[in-house]
Amino acid sequence: MSLPPCPKCNSEYTYEDGALLVCPECAHEWSADAAAEGEGDAKVIKDAVGNVLQDGDTVSVIKDLKVKGSSLVVKVGTKVKNIRLVEGDHDIDCKIDGIGAMKLKSEFVKKV
Ligand SMILES: [Zn+2]
Repeated sequence: MSLPPCPKCNSEYTYEDGALLVCPECAHEWSADAAAEGEGDAKVIKDAVGNVLQDGDTVSVIKDLKVKGSSLVVKVGTKVKNIRLVEGDHDIDCKIDGIGAMKLKSEFVKKV
């Protein structure tokens, strides 16, 4: 059985103390449960009100968003179908009618 290395100093000498993992080198303590959650394959992406988003969802835009490098604006209330979640600062990949493929931030949309 192997314990995860210390998230602070990367020490491999972590040990369990009840529900906590402890690093003997830097004295960092953290919860083993939290560490396990962070290792899931997909990170959870939530919309502006905390709904969990998934590939294929339809969302609506909650504020006017300027499209980078153009004079186009995605108006508040615009429905965006079939989103795809991606890594990064803009975590939604999508195609918007009249605008084309673009990326959105999950904090500016709401699941419908
Ligand atoms: Zn440490």
